[in-house]
Amino acid sequence: MKKPIITLAVSTIVGIGTVFGGVSFKTEAASLSSLKDQQDKIHNQRSSVNSTINQAKQKIDSLQGQQVDVKTEMKRIDLAIGDTNTKIREKQAKVDDTKAQIAKLQSDIKVIQERIKKRNDLLKERARNYQETGGMVNYLEVLMGSQSFSDFIDRANAVSTIMEADQEILKQADADKKELETKQAQVEKELSSLQSMLKELQNMNQQLNGQRAEKDKLLGSLQAQEQHVQEDVMNMEEQNQVLASQEASIQKAIQMEQQRQAELARQQAAAQASQSKGSSGGGSSASSAAPPVTGGSFMRPAVGPISSTYGPRWGEFHYGVDIANPGANVPIVAAADGVVAVSHYSQSYGNVVYITHSINGHIYTTVYAHMQVRMVSEGQVVSKGQQVGIMGSTGEATGQHLHFELYNGPWKYHSAINPMGIVPL
Ligand SMILES: [Zn+2]
Repeated sequence: MKKPIITLAVSTIVGIGTVFGGVSFKTEAASLSSLKDQQDKIHNQRSSVNSTINQAKQKIDSLQGQQVDVKTEMKRIDLAIGDTNTKIREKQAKVDDTKAQIAKLQSDIKVIQERIKKRNDLLKERARNYQETGGMVNYLEVLMGSQSFSDFIDRANAVSTIMEADQEILKQADADKKELETKQAQVEKELSSLQSMLKELQNMNQQLNGQRAEKDKLLGSLQAQEQHVQEDVMNMEEQNQVLASQEASIQKAIQMEQQRQAELARQQAAAQASQSKGSSGGGSSASSAAPPVTGGSFMRPAVGPISSTYGPRWGEFHYGVDIANPGANVPIVAAADGVVAVSHYSQSYGNVVYITHSINGHIYTTVYAHMQVRMVSEGQVVSKGQQVGIMGSTGEATGQHLHFELYNGPWKYHSAINPMGIVPL
């Protein structure tokens, strides 16, 4: 549907060109082919943006796949941590138990040691008494005091039994003590083995926690990368949408250019016949606060002082010129005749309008951002000075102002030029 119109138009121009001579014909044919070139360029940009979007989406898939892998690893590590923690608790309980056992053994040993000591003291005391009082005599006295031989035997036996019993009790106590000490040594060995197992488990747990922290970090990095690519895709999708709209508006601009050229040809024909009255004025602005329509291709888009110029600002680059005006209902007007390429709400620009201008066959694009309201729609033809919206502070804006951008050619991300000297600001 596009092609036949152009073919028809070109043949019309060829006709006019033949009538009015070479120079003007060449310029106008060139301006049309330049418009067509711009359109092709946008078309190529779109397919390039589309393939970049596809690449980005593949990258997102891959990043998401990697995240799934990392999460699987995290699950495995979490389960292992849970497992070692359970084992640590079990071993710790055993260690506590064994320690209690050792404490009990130690107190038992102490009791026996005390008993042995008491017994020893008693025996020593008795031995000392024997010596001091001539124990043997006393002993003999006991024996000599016997009434009869059998009494003597009884007494002798009794003495020896008492001594033997003392020895036996001592021996038994000593054996008990040795047994307890053996048991304590054994339990202590058990304890040290338990403690080394516990230490091993704790090391393992520490290692697992380290691995888990690493995976957390990795996942965080993958998520950040994915978010970054997602933002790129969103940005590119907005670019794509703007490019598509521009393609349509340039198509319309081509038609306008054709009409303009046809009108120009008619006027030239009329001028040859009589005197021309060709005066073009006529601003269509209704609001008193609208800027006056000036001569030339471009005019100022709003009334108010320039609060920020094109160039580096706050460590970034300011791609436009800001016109600030705190008044109520400050009109924003088209800086030149054109076609509305984009009229939408953007996260950063807020309410924004893009206008495609064909100035002597060359495409310019102007952007009007942060508007309170938009008053034109995509595809609409606007004339210089026509109101397109009201100044505001929508999107990423501080204070009420117009953020105005100019592009040499169609809109392209981060390629706005300085409008000073082109647009009378
Ligand atoms: Zn700005």
